[in-house]
Amino acid sequence: VLIWTLDANGSSSYYNKTFLDFLGVSKDAEISDWAPIVHPDDVEIASDTINKAIAEHRSYSLEVRLLRADGQWRWVMAQGNPSIGINNEFLGFVGSSVDINDRKQAEEKIAESDKRYNMMVMQSPFAFAVLKGKDMVITLANDSVKEMWGKGKEVEGKPLIEVLPELKNQQFPDLLNKVYTTGIPYSSYESLVVLQRNGKMEDTYFNFTYQPYREADETISGVVIIATEVTPLAILNNKIKVSEEKFKLLVLQAPVAICVLRGENYVIEVINKGMHEMLDRTLEESSNKPAFDVLPELLDQGIKELLDNVYKTGERFALDELPVNFKRNGKVENIFVQLVLEPLCEADGSISGVMCLSHEITAQVMARKKIEESETKFRALTEDAPVATCLFTGREMKIEIANDKMLAYWGKGKDIIGKTLADAVPELTGQPFLTILDEVFTTGVMYEGKNEVAQLEVNGVLGTYYFDYTYKPIRNAAGEVYGIMNMAVDITDQVLALNRVKESESHFRTMADLMPQKVWTADAEGNYNYFNKCWLDYTGLDFEALSDWGWESVIDGQDWEETKLRWQHSITTGENFEMEHRLRNTEGKYKWHLSRGLLQNDEVGNPKMWIGTNTEMQHLKEEQQRKGDFIKMVSHELKTPVTSIKGYVQLLLGMLNDEKNEPVLPLKTSLNRINAQVLRLTRLITEMLDLSRIESGKLDLQKKYFSLNELVTETIQDVMQTSKRHVIKLEEDCICSVYADRDRIAEVLINFINNGIKYSPETETIVVKIWETATNQVGVSVTDYGIGIDKNDQEKVFERFYRVTGKTENTYSGFGIGLFIASEVIERHDGKIKVESELGKGSTFTFMLPLATPASD
Ligand code: ADP
Repeated sequence: VLIWTLDANGSSSYYNKTFLDFLGVSKDAEISDWAPIVHPDDVEIASDTINKAIAEHRSYSLEVRLLRADGQWRWVMAQGNPSIGINNEFLGFVGSSVDINDRKQAEEKIAESDKRYNMMVMQSPFAFAVLKGKDMVITLANDSVKEMWGKGKEVEGKPLIEVLPELKNQQFPDLLNKVYTTGIPYSSYESLVVLQRNGKMEDTYFNFTYQPYREADETISGVVIIATEVTPLAILNNKIKVSEEKFKLLVLQAPVAICVLRGENYVIEVINKGMHEMLDRTLEESSNKPAFDVLPELLDQGIKELLDNVYKTGERFALDELPVNFKRNGKVENIFVQLVLEPLCEADGSISGVMCLSHEITAQVMARKKIEESETKFRALTEDAPVATCLFTGREMKIEIANDKMLAYWGKGKDIIGKTLADAVPELTGQPFLTILDEVFTTGVMYEGKNEVAQLEVNGVLGTYYFDYTYKPIRNAAGEVYGIMNMAVDITDQVLALNRVKESESHFRTMADLMPQKVWTADAEGNYNYFNKCWLDYTGLDFEALSDWGWESVIDGQDWEETKLRWQHSITTGENFEMEHRLRNTEGKYKWHLSRGLLQNDEVGNPKMWIGTNTEMQHLKEEQQRKGDFIKMVSHELKTPVTSIKGYVQLLLGMLNDEKNEPVLPLKTSLNRINAQVLRLTRLITEMLDLSRIESGKLDLQKKYFSLNELVTETIQDVMQTSKRHVIKLEEDCICSVYADRDRIAEVLINFINNGIKYSPETETIVVKIWETATNQVGVSVTDYGIGIDKNDQEKVFERFYRVTGKTENTYSGFGIGLFIASEVIERHDGKIKVESELGKGSTFTFMLPLATPASD
């Protein structure tokens, strides 16, 4: 310790031995002034301090550098205490100095490092602040923290809360206080701090530490804040965290089965409900265990290889339909799943796991298989279908199925199956079909095409075809249209045939129009649909005026009723229509026509149409009239001489009958022959007269009651007299009367019997029968066993002048009018006449008349 004294004016007066050694002098006298031994930098502070202490008579303390004997400046701490005399006068100072050079140097180092530290702190990118005292007064805040706080430069000296009032309700004041009181540092990462910055409240994130600020004596005087703002990073991390949470939640709640496999053993890290339900393993059974321990049955199904591949390549694997066998419900089940294997990458790009997404589609696959099965059946069916059939699917009309017939219509091969219709049959573009198909697909309403024309390229030739077809929408189980079935029939031939028919019809019409004869047609029901030009020209009426019974107006009133009856009869029975009637011409004159109508049948035999003609026969009619008049006149003229001849022959016969003279016998025979011929002649004349009467409508009936049995018996006797060869047998089943013209009925019977005799030259028996019918009629029939009549002729024998033609035609004499008159007579008696006959076996002619009941008498 260096001991020394100073006198009252501050000059040195004493140095102890140690001091002198320190200075390297031997005597006190050598040092009159201390100033030279004090470092020039310290002189001022030393003299100031000492002078102040002298003035105030106070002790002082001073750190100065003194020049040691070896020439080194040494730091000493000088402590001076005032020395006071007995009279309380100030005498000077007694002091000691201690070498503090080592300490001072250390302090300097510290200061230097402090300086560096401060510099570092102040300039550091870290936010740095020192808060002092319970109120956390900011004593130091570097630029970074100021910038972070966003509160300007002047923050020092203010309590933290005053500078950042927004922190009041956040956790930080408490945390600071805790560090302040306990001395335990506090650190936090990515903490959210809400700061009033840039004119708004901002969510900011900080990594920070609160360190207790210790004084040299270890007491805590404040808190040091070191912080870095990590807001953008934190936000990002936060987002990741949120998305990870979300992802996990998504995974767990997803309707698909999901699990995350980690590591080489594919440990099931995350598994959602869907997955462990699908696997039929509980959460405990499956979580955090290697996947193939949990599902050993998958090992030999190629799943591990798939996973390995994802690991190896880092490529996502996805398959829409994967068949797998799972042990479920105690047995191995074959199921189908959709599978996605997604590699899970780390930040460095390495793959640490695989996410499996799976969705069981067994039901759908089964349903599809069923559809496929039924489609196969359908395919087989359509293959054999007699109708061209195909199935389009999807809006694009993909040809799913098409049988050979359909392919033939399109003129295409099997290779078009699978293509769209538009691609397969490009010539359809621009034709209506594709649009119609699209409409059917949209509306679900079936379309039916009739007789529609299509242009198709068959064997390289574009041709015109006609089809009847349907587009039928096909629906799936959900009722949605997924396809269209097309069935088609090629009716080209029919259409062409129809066209030909139409053509030939028009030909027919042109031809018919050129004909000088009247021609008409009507449908099967008798509705007129055509009258040719000749008709229109003759009547001066147009088609409208003539059709629908309009031609009534041109038929003579006398013929109309008959015409109508006959025409209606033909329409209902289909029998030929034929009649003669008078039709009016443009001049209003009626001319006789022979009208005919024939029903035409179609190929199947159904009535199709009537074709008719009307042939003018006015001349013929007039000719007939003249002939009739002539016959009438001739018969009249003949009648008188024949009657008188007949009278004389009978007179002569009567005279000769009485004669017993043998030689007159040849004469008698001759007269009998004359008589027979005259009788025939008389009958002929009677028939001819009757004919003209019938034709002129003058056949009058003299009706009376008479016994039919008597008439028949008499007639047979009369005939027997002239015809000796035949035996006429009479069979009477009843005795009955009729109300009729006796002579005319006798004529009918004579005609029947004479015909019977005439047409049975080889046989001798004629049978006449009378019987009563169930319908109150009496029938008389004459049966012979002669040549008989062919079926075709049987109807016609009752027609005027009709005679059966054939080899034997000229063998039998006659005019063919006897049966005509007979039928006229019977009809006028409201009776019926008919013939039953077999060629070569004989005939039976019958007439029936209404029975005259006693009441009618
Ligand atoms: P005809 O004077 O020619 O006998 P009819 O009117 O009496 O005239 O008969 C018409 C035709 O019917 C005859 O020409 C004949 O061909 C046929 N005929 C009539 N009766 C018979 C019959 N019993 N057997 C065969 N043919 C008959």
